[in-house]
Amino acid sequence: MSEIKITGYKCKACGRVHYPKHEQCLTCKGRDFEPLTPDGNARLLAYTQIFNLPWGFDERFLIIGVGEFENGIKAMGQIKADSLDKIKTGMELKPSWEPVRHQYGEPVYGLKFKPLE
Ligand SMILES: [Zn+2]
Repeated sequence: MSEIKITGYKCKACGRVHYPKHEQCLTCKGRDFEPLTPDGNARLLAYTQIFNLPWGFDERFLIIGVGEFENGIKAMGQIKADSLDKIKTGMELKPSWEPVRHQYGEPVYGLKFKPLE
C-alpha cells in the first residue's frame, strides 16, 4: 500500500487544520503552519455520486466523499462502493492511495476510501 500523499497544514496559533493550504488561517488569520500527513481512518462528512466521468475513467459512475481524518485533515476521495445503499455520513472509512484513473496510459494516483461498516 502506498503512502497517502496529502499534506495538511495545522495553524500554530489555534490548531485549525487546512487542506489544501491557505495563506492565512481561516479562523485566526495566523500565517504559521505545521505540515501534517493524514493519520488513522477517516469519517465520512459528505458524499455524492458522479455520472458523466471525464476521459480516463473506466467506471460508469463514481461515489466520492469528503472524509475527515483523525488528526483533522479533510480530503476528498473515491469511495469503494457499488451503490449508495450502504453509504451514510459519519461512517468510518479506511483510506488508501491507489490509481484512480489512467492518463496517457499511466496510472494517476489518488485517495480512495473503503467503508468499514
Ligand atoms: Zn489559526
